[in-house]
Amino acid sequence: MRKTTLILLLVTMSTILVGQNLNTTMDKNKKETSKTEDQWKQELTTEEYQVLRQCGTEQPFTGKYYDFKEKGSYLCAACGHELFSSSTKYDSGSGWPSFYQPIESGNIDEKRDTNLGMERIEIVCSNCGGHLGHVFNDGPQPTGLRYCVNSISLDFKPSSNSLKELK
Ligand SMILES: [Zn+2]
Repeated sequence: MRKTTLILLLVTMSTILVGQNLNTTMDKNKKETSKTEDQWKQELTTEEYQVLRQCGTEQPFTGKYYDFKEKGSYLCAACGHELFSSSTKYDSGSGWPSFYQPIESGNIDEKRDTNLGMERIEIVCSNCGGHLGHVFNDGPQPTGLRYCVNSISLDFKPSSNSLKELK
């Protein structure tokens, strides 16, 4: 009995170890865009999943970044892709973080959105397709654009300059 139990234990342990190695290798090679909805559901919180994968919108004036003024860059909360710089963030009064331009034009994709019975342009992360918000034509110069983004779709990375200042 004891011998059998020991063997079973060893088999179970090695299966777990092999499984972990496989997972790590797969994660490294996997493109973010190839994740299934089930995988996103597991990785994201319920709120993040609703906004990023189901085009939800957080309530205005509730997000962690609408009134946030630190210097740095804003990343996609789902995959870490760089999206916006704090230098292009401004207070639009809308209750959502607003930017007048992306950190690089290729980092954000635009899609036509006719939900809610109006024509809007949805903005998504170009790396993982995660929903960020919408872009409107009532922004400040130099672009005249307003990238209206859900805080939930964003992570913040302080700039290296502000890190140096802290040291
Ligand atoms: Zn992303």
